[in-house]
Amino acid sequence: MTTIADRLTNAHHRIAQAVQNSSRNQDEIKLLAVSKTKPVEQIMAAYDAGQRFFGENYVQEGESKILALKADCPDIEWHFIGPLQSNKTRIIAEHFDWLHTLSREKVAQRLNEQRPAHLAPLNVCIQVNISNEASKSGVSIDEIAPLAAAISQLPNLKLRGLMAIPTATEDEAIQRQELGEMHALFLQLKSQYPQLDTLSMGMSNDLELAIAAGSTLVRIGSAIFGERDYPN
Ligand SMILES: *Cc1c(COP(=O)(O)O)cnc(C)c1O
Repeated sequence: MTTIADRLTNAHHRIAQAVQNSSRNQDEIKLLAVSKTKPVEQIMAAYDAGQRFFGENYVQEGESKILALKADCPDIEWHFIGPLQSNKTRIIAEHFDWLHTLSREKVAQRLNEQRPAHLAPLNVCIQVNISNEASKSGVSIDEIAPLAAAISQLPNLKLRGLMAIPTATEDEAIQRQELGEMHALFLQLKSQYPQLDTLSMGMSNDLELAIAAGSTLVRIGSAIFGERDYPN
């Protein structure tokens, strides 16, 4: 049987291969294990295999897992990667280390007010709607700069970079185009904010293309934990 530890090893191999093919450095790429819908036992299995960065998509589910694992896995870094409504910001501010899906100034302000003083600033990425689909979350390209300027005024948030979920397609030309555009937007923003270090893109099916395009953080779910079963 393939274990979570095996699948994690396999994901690391895929990343190493992609890094080599694009002449990049292994230490530029962070692997985020996306554990949404998966039980804490599976998170612990990945933790025991050495994984420390985990991503969750649902606010309450994420909070309950963080509380459940606090004692046994105290050094997990928790990333929130799902859509965030402004009435749920407090849970993110109080429990998570990162938010990848910031797209509104009002949400940024609430998080800044709600971040507890004893915690380090919340690391944030601006989510960009790179495919420009009306149904997708994220800011449009011309909204990046004003939102970044607003975030940089907030002491309890730390702007780390950009995040995107490109169009779900098998068409590599479209994938490469969107991933490449994200990298260009990231470099442009970084020229203004040199401390930026995170371009969050790439999932189980497109991590190779994302790394070739300049991603620094890949969000891998099903390739580590298997297919997800959603309650209906
Ligand atoms: C679920 C999810 C992932 C992981 O997707 P896989 O295809 O299972 O690797 C990555 N990013 C976001 C934002 C997700 O919601």
